[in-house]
Amino acid sequence: MAPVLYRFTRDLRLHDHAGLSAASALGEVLPVLVIDRAMEARLRTSPRRAAFFCGAAAALDASLRERGTQLVVRRGNAAPVLKQLAKACGAHTLGWSASFDALGVQADRKLQSDMEEAGLRTIIAMDAPAIGPEETTAARPSAGDGYRAFVPYHELWRELQPASHEAPLFLSFAQSDVVSEPLPQPSEFGSQLPAANAGETLAAQRFRAFLQNDGLHYAFALGAPAEDRTSRLGADLSFGTIAARTIVRETRERIDDPFLLTEERNSLKLFLRSMAFRDFFLQLAWYNPQTQTEPLQEKMRDFPFAKSHPALDAWRSGCTGYPLVDAGIRQLHATGWMHPRVRYIAASFLCFDLGVDWRAGLSEWDRHLIEDEAALAIGNWQWAAGVGADLAAYPRIFNPRKQARRFDPAGAYIRTWIPELAHLPAGAIGAARTASSQIELPLFSGNAYPQPVVDHERAAREFLKRYQQFMPASGRQASR
Ligand SMILES: Cc1cc2nc3c(=O)[nH]c(=O)nc-3n(C[C@H](O)[C@H](O)[C@H](O)COP(=O)(O)OP(=O)(O)OC[C@H]3O[C@@H](n4cnc5c(N)ncnc54)[C@H](O)[C@@H]3O)c2cc1C
Repeated sequence: MAPVLYRFTRDLRLHDHAGLSAASALGEVLPVLVIDRAMEARLRTSPRRAAFFCGAAAALDASLRERGTQLVVRRGNAAPVLKQLAKACGAHTLGWSASFDALGVQADRKLQSDMEEAGLRTIIAMDAPAIGPEETTAARPSAGDGYRAFVPYHELWRELQPASHEAPLFLSFAQSDVVSEPLPQPSEFGSQLPAANAGETLAAQRFRAFLQNDGLHYAFALGAPAEDRTSRLGADLSFGTIAARTIVRETRERIDDPFLLTEERNSLKLFLRSMAFRDFFLQLAWYNPQTQTEPLQEKMRDFPFAKSHPALDAWRSGCTGYPLVDAGIRQLHATGWMHPRVRYIAASFLCFDLGVDWRAGLSEWDRHLIEDEAALAIGNWQWAAGVGADLAAYPRIFNPRKQARRFDPAGAYIRTWIPELAHLPAGAIGAARTASSQIELPLFSGNAYPQPVVDHERAAREFLKRYQQFMPASGRQASR
């Protein structure tokens, strides 16, 4: 019987897998990993991303070997490589998971037409979201081309059930004598790091532990960067080592546990809201490919964000003199991840205090993040810059010192990530109020920590003035 080729991309697991499940309904599956130029470029961008991907690919190969097969690795242009593989093993069908960002969607379409021209049938599954764009629009056709506002989207999302594809034991894999190239190694993408300990077993363990413990305190975790108790599943979700569907289904089941306290149940609901945000941004990118490069809000397309600023390098390196912003950026450099709350504050500083274009921040963080989901990066950066799906009447400009007092009152997060400040008592970090008064404070005296690169209050007011001058009297566009 002819095998079905299944090309893994950012869906590196066997459980609850929409693409594998669709492919295996048609025959025995031959699992393939093609490292093409686009994938290589993404992995070259961030050394930690490369290390995570290589670890997850090795774990997938190990799981496949337990089932008597292996990952067939190839390097090169996807279309010729896959055509050649199909010919070698007699496959007539090729499956893979859909991308959601515009570049990925374009590449999917091109591959689909190349394969179909070569006489191969293609199946493209919506594996990444828990609830896919077509499901939300089908449930409410009046929404037309997707949702641009989160609140109505979330109302509907809560009512829909994610499908289940949980049948890894029933997947059957083709025995083939096709020889694989070696598994990917971080060094081939310029990363000096060893392959990370990653993969679906670890992701499932982390998620289930989260559901029993930290998930019950998620509301607290979101506002406590020092605690590091959010799920930390972003990278796993972006490389598909766990299915968003699994997370949403099991979290909903957990919410029904009658022994939960109200705060615990509310925390889990808030966690589900974060998962809904993920699906929301995926569908936003899916229906609005122009957002790859342009703001979603047409009125903001010509807003005069600056391309640069004398303090841009200080922001990039975590040396703005605003401890919470700097701590976040240094956490990102050290770990490939930044606490979600601090991301908004650091992004606000770039876009509003420095007035720099959100795209500069997006590409800078892309060099450090492990997560590899352009749709989420773009959606969030546009949201933070006030040019995307957030329809607040005015830009959300965060005061980085007030935010530090609120979310890191003891300075524990700041002291962890800024060694120059590690010796200071909590009060000294929280007390600084204005750029001029800070000079007198121990925060800036006798150590290497820089003075504030701008005066926040003044910079924020100047931004708002520019914003008022730019915005037409008609106000912002209303939206679904
Ligand atoms: C300016 C900015 C840039 C961001 N860039 C990225 C990015 O490049 N890639 C990326 O995957 N995420 C990005 N995010 C979203 C979010 O901060 C990360 O997914 C982060 O890893 C969440 O940490 P966690 O895994 O502990 O999530 P939790 O708080 O535990 O949430 C669980 C999951 O829900 C999803 N989620 C949570 N918040 C959001 C959100 N705001 N938007 C979309 N999905 C969300 C994530 O998949 C996350 O793993 C960005 C957020 C901001 C504000």
